[in-house]
Amino acid sequence: MALLQISEPGQTPAPHERRLAVGIDLGTTNSLVASMRHGAPETLPDEQGHHLLPSVVRYQASGNVTVGADALAAAHDDPLNTIASVKRFMGRGIEDVKRLGKSMPYRFAAGDSNVPRIETVGGAVSAVEVSAEILRVLKHRAEATFAGEVRDAVITVPAYFDEAQRQATKDAARIAGLNVMRLLSEPTAAAVAYGLDQSPEGVYAIYDLGGGTFDISILRLHKGVFEVLATGGNSALGGDDMDHAIAEWMMREARVPDDADHKTLRRLLRDARAAKEALSANDGVRVVVDLPNQGAWEATLDRMQLHALIDPLIEQTIAPCRRALRDAGVRREQVDGVVLVGGATRIPRVRDKIAEFFGREPLSDIDPDKVVAIGAAIQADVLAGNRRGEEMLLLDVIPLSLGIEIMGGMVEKIIPRNTTIPAAKAQDFTTYKDGQTALLAHVVQGEREMVSDCRSLARFELRGIPPMAAGAARIRVSFQVDADGLLNVSAREQTTGVESQVTVKPSYGLTDQEIEQMLRDSFTHAHEDEAARSLREVQVDADRLIEAVQGAVAADARLLDEKERAEIEVATNALRVARNGTDVQGIRQAISVLEVATREFAQRRMDASVRKALSGHRVDEFDTSA
Ligand code: ADP
Ligand code: MG
Repeated sequence: MALLQISEPGQTPAPHERRLAVGIDLGTTNSLVASMRHGAPETLPDEQGHHLLPSVVRYQASGNVTVGADALAAAHDDPLNTIASVKRFMGRGIEDVKRLGKSMPYRFAAGDSNVPRIETVGGAVSAVEVSAEILRVLKHRAEATFAGEVRDAVITVPAYFDEAQRQATKDAARIAGLNVMRLLSEPTAAAVAYGLDQSPEGVYAIYDLGGGTFDISILRLHKGVFEVLATGGNSALGGDDMDHAIAEWMMREARVPDDADHKTLRRLLRDARAAKEALSANDGVRVVVDLPNQGAWEATLDRMQLHALIDPLIEQTIAPCRRALRDAGVRREQVDGVVLVGGATRIPRVRDKIAEFFGREPLSDIDPDKVVAIGAAIQADVLAGNRRGEEMLLLDVIPLSLGIEIMGGMVEKIIPRNTTIPAAKAQDFTTYKDGQTALLAHVVQGEREMVSDCRSLARFELRGIPPMAAGAARIRVSFQVDADGLLNVSAREQTTGVESQVTVKPSYGLTDQEIEQMLRDSFTHAHEDEAARSLREVQVDADRLIEAVQGAVAADARLLDEKERAEIEVATNALRVARNGTDVQGIRQAISVLEVATREFAQRRMDASVRKALSGHRVDEFDTSA
């Protein structure tokens, strides 16, 4: 039976070999789906003609789940069962969510897994499941548009999303029945939407001010290759904060009591948001506050007043821009274009401030709330093989360095921050103790020198290392980060081939606040870290020496006379005392005293072991490390 190709009414039929693939912007506030239509990328509307799907999901006792505008409308009557901004919870652990959740009304249940669940009358749901509901609606929207199954999608994620958050996004897609062709970073998608990848060279700033988050990314296009040079931002700054500032102004002016109930406050916020949005196109708007037993208050909110309220917030986006440029090693004048992303960049005042900072008018031809989805749709079309000869190479970066814990609680960075992905790097390590047969690898992410200041990602063990003298084993630890930013770590003992491997799938990830904080700390603590590092290094040397000397004395006490033994003991104790202090020089001195005190002894042990070997024993039975 021949299958008939059914096209959308009024559309030219797509060539039959064309594979359908969509781009999805899974946003904190709003989500969109886009695809190629009429030969151009377009966002797809729902039946009522709305392109933006509010990222809000409501669970009801009946088992009904509503997504989008209806759920948003119910939010102020049913706040506990209506989940908004779920993107903030993706890939997070219960502790992270509790910290984040202070301002959120939801009740979290830990359950028996590490994944936090939000309790609703319709049951407990995880962030992944809530996101899956949003994705499912967008998938159905695309299927209704094209009257056919849609499975393949490119989904965008913030550039700074860590492993856990990316993995959670992929999991949500799988639950929604989507095949993720690629996770694409939002700024890269925006740049692609503008066709910036078509020019040969350039440095671009992508300024994304959404509902609750601000992101700035510096991209470089070089020889047709896209690279994210740096990212920055503020995960707790966006259009919502402007709504709050306006609502507070309304409360002050209308003398709304501070203890007004939850519903009044929600209504005020909704009206404040409407006023803010209206002011993007008008010079003034009427605002009304109608309180049950206080009568109505009415006033005009004009742009002057709006600016007074929102300027401090806009100002807060400038410091991250400055920092991102510095991280990228780019001067403001070197930026060839500024791309606007996010609904809040529709505000003329925001555009003016951006133009002022970068010294050029930002690109704004494409709707700022659609631009990410449009870029994703273009990338999906490429990956679906519909644009032969136009394979663009998009490179992304790792937002925070990946490393492993080494002796003394220090971090050895294996893949530094801002390395483009996919990336693979390896580093050789050795054993610390004689006869050590296992190695516990602790994978961490962060910029600081000490493990305690970084985020733990995973631990795994390499077992079955044959017993060798300390320092003899060669263990190669390899990190591989794939194009979606997901990490794979393996360790292999080179002489024996013993191998161990983990796919890092942590139960929680970094909060973006933490990423921000970690980046800031790495700059302000650089000196402190250096000092801490040299102290730890010298302490490790001290411990190593003390242990070796003790082992040698225990094994070969007969090679020492009374005086020598006492001398070694005094020097050992002195080193122990120094080691527990913080005087790096002092510890170094104590180390050399002990080394001098044991030099003779080490020589004697060496001779003894050689003699023994010559009489038919194995050399490696002897510890000659002292
Ligand atoms: P997200 O990326 O977080 O999902 P969006 O990019 O959709 O968010 O931006 C949502 C924000 O944009 C909201 O704060 C909304 O009020 C604001 N916004 C949308 N349209 C306008 C407008 N015309 N003027 C001012 N702000 C707007
Ligand atoms: Mg967005």
